[in-house]
Amino acid sequence: MHAVVTPEELRAAIRNVPDFPQPGIQFKDITPLLAEARLLSGCISQLAGTHERGSIDVVAGIDARGFLFSSAVAVQLGAGLVPVRKKGKLPYRTLEESYSLEYGQNTLSIHVDAIRPGQRVLLVDDVLATGGTAAATIALIKRLGGILVEVAFVIELGFLNGRSRLPGAAVRSLVVY
Ligand code: AMP
Repeated sequence: MHAVVTPEELRAAIRNVPDFPQPGIQFKDITPLLAEARLLSGCISQLAGTHERGSIDVVAGIDARGFLFSSAVAVQLGAGLVPVRKKGKLPYRTLEESYSLEYGQNTLSIHVDAIRPGQRVLLVDDVLATGGTAAATIALIKRLGGILVEVAFVIELGFLNGRSRLPGAAVRSLVVY
């Protein structure tokens, strides 16, 4: 059974680390949240949200901190898990999308057979910052013919307006800064 936790409890367990990994970035450290059984359980339950068990075919999780949540969300929803990984990590044939993030540049990849056309996909990640990472992942999901049901984040940095990079997507976040 999953615990009921409030956004305030989640917020209190997210540590702000200034100037990591570079000056000017306020890094949202989720490790204190992960370490608290009740909060982790409640967080997974809230990311799964009101989706009925069986209504999602696959949960897509983003390398690397998205994996900490997406696998458990997939199990709760009775869905499969699709890892979206940084370039060069997946062993089989891939599709790739490049993008810029709050700090630096990145290329994400997905296996060409990870999602079948028409499958219903829930995308999960830890932080929505500028939205570039999620936008690139959504592009990969759509190139494979997946139907994006929702994008769920633990944390949204609202002041960066990442949602504007995800037009047409249903976006939900548990804690907004
Ligand atoms: P973005 O593409 O700008 O939305 O960045 C989102 C990705 O970068 C997520 O996968 C996060 O893990 C990471 N990220 C960006 N900004 C932060 C931040 N301030 N604190 C922690 N993680 C961040």
